[in-house]
Amino acid sequence: MAAAPRRVRVRVAPSPTGPPHVGTAYVGLFDYVFARQTGGDFVLRIEDTDRERSTRQSESDIIAAFRWLGLAWDEGPDVGGPFGPYRQSERSHIYRQHAEALLQSGAAYRCFCTPQELAARRQARRSQGGQAGYDRLCRGLSEQEARQRLEAGAPHVVRLRVPLEGETAFDDLVRGAVSVHNAQIDDQVLLKSDGYPTYHLANVVDDHLMEITHVVRAEEWISSTPKHILLYKAFGWAPPVFIHMPLLRNKDRSKISKRRDPTSLLWYREQGYLPEALLNFLALMGWSLGEEREVFSLEEMIESFSWERVKTGGPVFDLQKLDWLNGEYIRAMSAEELLERIIAEPYTRRLDEPADGMLAITALVQERMKRLAEFDELTGFFFERKPYDPADLVPSKQDGDFVRQALAAGRGVLEGLDAWSAEALDAVVRGLAETRGWKRGALYMVLRVAVTCRRVSTPLFETMEVLGKDECMARLAAADAAAADLP
Ligand code: GLU
Repeated sequence: MAAAPRRVRVRVAPSPTGPPHVGTAYVGLFDYVFARQTGGDFVLRIEDTDRERSTRQSESDIIAAFRWLGLAWDEGPDVGGPFGPYRQSERSHIYRQHAEALLQSGAAYRCFCTPQELAARRQARRSQGGQAGYDRLCRGLSEQEARQRLEAGAPHVVRLRVPLEGETAFDDLVRGAVSVHNAQIDDQVLLKSDGYPTYHLANVVDDHLMEITHVVRAEEWISSTPKHILLYKAFGWAPPVFIHMPLLRNKDRSKISKRRDPTSLLWYREQGYLPEALLNFLALMGWSLGEEREVFSLEEMIESFSWERVKTGGPVFDLQKLDWLNGEYIRAMSAEELLERIIAEPYTRRLDEPADGMLAITALVQERMKRLAEFDELTGFFFERKPYDPADLVPSKQDGDFVRQALAAGRGVLEGLDAWSAEALDAVVRGLAETRGWKRGALYMVLRVAVTCRRVSTPLFETMEVLGKDECMARLAAADAAAADLP
């Protein structure tokens, strides 16, 4: 009888050494989708073995960012679980025991070379064109020698005894066979001189003990995987399935980096990207729903996800595309929901404004909004008059005279208008352009700048309706005064 398939267990394993990275969310998304689709478990493991660079602040930022995205984990440092602790800094004893077991079996050895010695020898080798990496000096130490130095308290690391010949291979689920000559693999450090594990040791031990079935991670780790395979072998464990996701790249194919690109999830949140739009965008970086459909929900992705359709080419991480997608999500919701979300974060300073006014304004700005944080910037003129250059009142191919005539005539017809609705305003202004033989666009431009203080704005007549007659008339009068000196 065939063995029952193992329950899928995946993990995202960020190192809390800086702001939460968009690449972590990208990997986490695929983990999450796969776990939800298969009824498996999604684990959050904090890889804080770099004692100098890891911070609790960074860890809580990662947790908050994942919560914001809605990528909920089943096990993790905050929620616990049967395979804890989920913070590597709390598992040091486990790694030490495992390193000890490898020393006992001969799969690992102690290396007493100091960093200075290593650097000097590396330098010498390099000048002779020799191989980089460790020269394996301590690999030849007799057991007795090693014991003596150990007993004398000499600082040391533990290294893996990598086979000198042969190849190490694995099948990447989305890339196929990958293999490396063992001669090219360094005798990697497993345990550092401070007794802390390296990434390699901690990662392999935890993936095994936490019963991870699929390791999903970024392409940049692909060169570490043969080292991990050797470690699994040394322990006598079966390795998990590996999936290396394509890197997020800029248009010039360079990897996105925090020096040049916004990589922090905190930034995306501050800008007012919707979590569902950001997830949709990240999904498109490695997968497609097919039929050229670019907008889809997390549920839809979970329903039809398969690793076969993961593209390793890595499409371009294009923020303009994200802006477009975010706009699509913004327009797909009701004005009520949009306003609710703007207020909840909040993305506006105007929390004391009457709700109905805010709603009317939101409905007008919804068409043009790409990010929720633009709200105040796009709508500021509703609440206060903004300074503008009177020259902005002048439409192209017109002059100051036209502006003065347009404002005078406009004020005249609008003054007499009682039903201050968008339709009525439209009809009156249209009629004015016709009787005067003016280009409609030119007249609209004068009114638009006078009323909204900008050349690009929300739809003119709806905006005027929301602003109300008194305020519009006051703004038109102010524009008239400002236009007096226009050439
Ligand atoms: N701590 C590694 C990272 O920050 C984990 C890589 C892996 O998933 O193995 O990306």
